[in-house]
Amino acid sequence: MKILVVGGAGYIGSHTVRQLRRAGHDVVVFDNLSSGHAAALPPEAALVRGDLLDEGAVKAALVAHQPDAVIHFAALIEVGESMRAPARYYRNNVVGSLNLLQAIVETRKIPLVFSSTAAVYGTTDAVPIPEDAPMQPESVYGETKLMTECMIHAFHTAQGLPYVVLRYFNVCGAAPEGDIGEAHASKSHLIELAALTALGQREKMLIFGDDYPTPDGTCLRDYVHVQDLADAHVLAVEALVKGTQQAATYNVGLGHGFSVKEVLDAVDAVVGTPVPREVAPRRAGDPPRLVADAARIRQELGFAPQFTDLQEIVQTAWEWHKRHPHDFRK
Ligand code: UDP
Repeated sequence: MKILVVGGAGYIGSHTVRQLRRAGHDVVVFDNLSSGHAAALPPEAALVRGDLLDEGAVKAALVAHQPDAVIHFAALIEVGESMRAPARYYRNNVVGSLNLLQAIVETRKIPLVFSSTAAVYGTTDAVPIPEDAPMQPESVYGETKLMTECMIHAFHTAQGLPYVVLRYFNVCGAAPEGDIGEAHASKSHLIELAALTALGQREKMLIFGDDYPTPDGTCLRDYVHVQDLADAHVLAVEALVKGTQQAATYNVGLGHGFSVKEVLDAVDAVVGTPVPREVAPRRAGDPPRLVADAARIRQELGFAPQFTDLQEIVQTAWEWHKRHPHDFRK
């Protein structure tokens, strides 16, 4: 199969490109490189530098490369920034996705796998969260993902577009080879920040709140390893092209949570010295628990995550950051 991976030069995209190649598929990446890195791609993956806001560019890529399916990762992803610059987020994530959908149905009507997020649920009391939980995103970022999901449903109903939507929980870790990993310009994720603190790039870790109604008082999150998540995309795209799935939405997570303290303890164990830490006030908008009900993807696509041990997950992130303390710049 040949897969067009839109936004394939980013963190999750580049790991998915690798897993697609390992599964024997050809890959073409369409990316504007606004936050992705060409260095994260294997030489066998063709790179088309283009922007989804340029309708003609994505259409031309579909016509020129004749892919069998599309995986769509291209989006701005920072929750805080989305609240300060909503127009940029609606334009880039919603209009960009609309352009892609329109280009697909006008050219090849091939299946689409879409990168969505647990942020579409917002704060919910459901533990774990099933796919049919109410969706009340609390950020513009979450709204743009929900709006894109709605557009995909509409294109499915009106034009028969086959799709799988994957709603990610807390994506983390890096390829065990240590050569690609998380490399966002703005750092906010717990494991990445802890690794950079261990490398001396930051003074200490702040634990945002230890008075939550959880066993150790810190927030619980469902940490899914990026390579397992990449494999979920491979399973989804294969099911769509084979025709065993036409329209499905799946949570992707391990199905259980780790606390902030457990994550930091795992980082200490992997690094071999305690990472300086301090309890700080709660961060606005953090729900106490976000854990996936991941039964559906296991049952329907045979998703079987390999990285279930927290220390092993952290180990992969640590290897990447240790070898590339300045991301792809070194
Ligand atoms: N967190 C923390 N200190 C940090 C970064 C994150 O205590 O420096 C906590 C955060 O409050 C949340 C969890 O770690 O409970 C995961 O946060 P992250 O930003 O990695 O992902 P999110 O769950 O917000 O998508």
